[in-house]
Amino acid sequence: MPAYTTEDIRNVALVGHAACGKTTLTEALLLKAGVINSMGSVEKGTTVSDFDPLEQKHQHSLNASIVSLDYENHHINLIDTPGYPDFMGPTLSALPAVETVAVVISANAGIESMTRKLMDWAAGRKLCRMIVVNKIDAEGADLASLYRAIQESFGKECLAINLPAKNGAGVADCFFNASGETGFSSVEEAHTAIVDQTVELDEELMEAYLEQGEVSPEQLHDPFEQALREGHLVPVCFTSALTGAGIDHLLQMSSRLLPNPKEGNPPAFVNGSGDEGTIVNVEPDPNKHAVAHAFKISFDPFVGKLGIFRVHQGTITKDSQLFANDARKALKVGHLFKLQGKKHIEVDAGVPGDICTVAKVDQITFDTVLHDSHDEDGLHLRSLDLPAPVAGLAISPKSRGDEQKVSDSLHKIVEEDPCLRIERNPAANETVLRGLGELHLRIALERMSTQFNVEVKTSIPTVPYRETITKKAEGHSRHKKQTGGAGQFGEVFIRVEPLPRGTGFEFVNAVVGGVIPSQFIPAVEKGVRQVFDSGAIAGFPMQDVRVTVYDGKHHPVDSKEVAFVSAGKKAFIDAIEKAKPIVLEPIVDVEVTAPNDNMGDVAGDLSSRRGRVSSTDSVSANTISILGQAPLGELGDFQSRLKSITGGEGSFSLQFKDYEQAPADLQQKLVGAYQRKDED
Ligand code: GDP
Repeated sequence: MPAYTTEDIRNVALVGHAACGKTTLTEALLLKAGVINSMGSVEKGTTVSDFDPLEQKHQHSLNASIVSLDYENHHINLIDTPGYPDFMGPTLSALPAVETVAVVISANAGIESMTRKLMDWAAGRKLCRMIVVNKIDAEGADLASLYRAIQESFGKECLAINLPAKNGAGVADCFFNASGETGFSSVEEAHTAIVDQTVELDEELMEAYLEQGEVSPEQLHDPFEQALREGHLVPVCFTSALTGAGIDHLLQMSSRLLPNPKEGNPPAFVNGSGDEGTIVNVEPDPNKHAVAHAFKISFDPFVGKLGIFRVHQGTITKDSQLFANDARKALKVGHLFKLQGKKHIEVDAGVPGDICTVAKVDQITFDTVLHDSHDEDGLHLRSLDLPAPVAGLAISPKSRGDEQKVSDSLHKIVEEDPCLRIERNPAANETVLRGLGELHLRIALERMSTQFNVEVKTSIPTVPYRETITKKAEGHSRHKKQTGGAGQFGEVFIRVEPLPRGTGFEFVNAVVGGVIPSQFIPAVEKGVRQVFDSGAIAGFPMQDVRVTVYDGKHHPVDSKEVAFVSAGKKAFIDAIEKAKPIVLEPIVDVEVTAPNDNMGDVAGDLSSRRGRVSSTDSVSANTISILGQAPLGELGDFQSRLKSITGGEGSFSLQFKDYEQAPADLQQKLVGAYQRKDED
């Protein structure tokens, strides 16, 4: 058993805009806690958490990295996460593993676009939040204005727990031992503000405070936890990872004031299908059934596949036999590790709340629930709502014979990042890798080359158009064949009606009196599905149609499955033709980051692609983020155009928004091209 208990554990994710200093901060915390003897540097590629050769080359975190440290008899697990929008998959998927999200803000860059998004994401998941203002030593940092801006943007509940002092060379504690001089505000005022905010949640304590004028940090502990859980308080901590200012205080505050796994808001587990099942209370009790959630998969060059999980309930030991989701066959843990960046430290048990790793277990994939009782077979975490990957590249091997190697390495990189996806488009004979943006896909290809030694050719993929109908209609088909011996007979009447966008496919059997015997209904559905999946007018899969089979005929001898498949198919096509079919095009949210001066050209380019700009946001003094929408089909060469507009400085990411009716000329072109292909 580890030397610490659940109550001693603190799980903290360091999140924030790229380059705010998360990796350096992790390094400074490890140094202060005595885990390492000297600070590594991002520039030299010597930090504990950015150990991946690609992270070292790009000098940015591309993956969530896990380290831990012991401080004042507490065990702190830290997750250092990437800050680029394209790498949100690894960042957001790590959040169910922690109680506290520390949103790091660079003192000289200020509040950036990812700062806002991450504050919202963490609040949406009811996680305890704190803000770390890092780089307080940096030249040009206006800390007083930044503190005001934080309160204006994120509310008056953002209150300093320490304040910068000595021109950024130190900090003054405003909570435990409130005294000393600060750069811009009085320690006493900050102390009073944070105590006032905390005691508001505890009437008795409030009375004691009003009478005595002071309460001890110990008395404040419970209401402080409650305030964090309820989002009533977001402590703000000032640090410099580079000079070490405030690092000690950040550790002190993390171990004394941040929630342990019993005090946070646990993530919602659901038993049953989708998010509709019953909510299950998973409790960090070491003696209950084991429940753990795999929030990260990675492939280590030496050890192979690693499944990294958070124990939510029960105790997992190296002898545990666990089921992965609804698997019937148990897997044996064998070796259990804690990660320290790329290092694996063997442990014999993981108590509730801890973050552990197992190696070489194929059954574990991202989001797998590990448990030790079949009662928990249907248990899963409520959907994480990760951004859907829409930017795509069609991929084929550079050398013939490399097909298997390409496919294997693609599957590995996709397993590591829940926002990467592989799509097969049989109609176009394409394998498409989809991600959140151009940088995301570029790094994925670099990883295939450097980590797996596979070179690929890329091209712009076929756009994933869809087909649907716009009105209700009915269709009919009678399939009859009499060739020599036994004949084939089946007759089907079908009704089709449009469904709301995004609903998919619904099949309703409304046949009465056995005019189509129930054993042939699946055959009718099979015929309908064949057309639904391959398209009726332009060769694209259909969506949002309810199909009701309501009448038909059978023959006691000649009715066969094949006859009803064929009749189902033709009756469906007949109905679709009368139901005003249309082609839908995918619309995406586009986020472009570009130098301020290029704003006009980028907006102009987007509108020439039938797109529009909806808002802009300042990312830093010289950089702007432009948000808008555009049809995905118009963005094929957007990457090269943006590169030339911005001299290589711009980047963009895409997020699927919805499907809309394609304009008439595009509609005609797609339908025409399909008919020509049909006639070939
Ligand atoms: P991340 O992308 O958030 O992980 O940020 P990094 O840790 O990679 O840091 C980005 C850059 O900021 C690097 O050049 C760091 O040396 C620098 N940096 C990080 N923390 C500090 C700090 O406290 N003060 C100053 N002046 N620079 C810092």
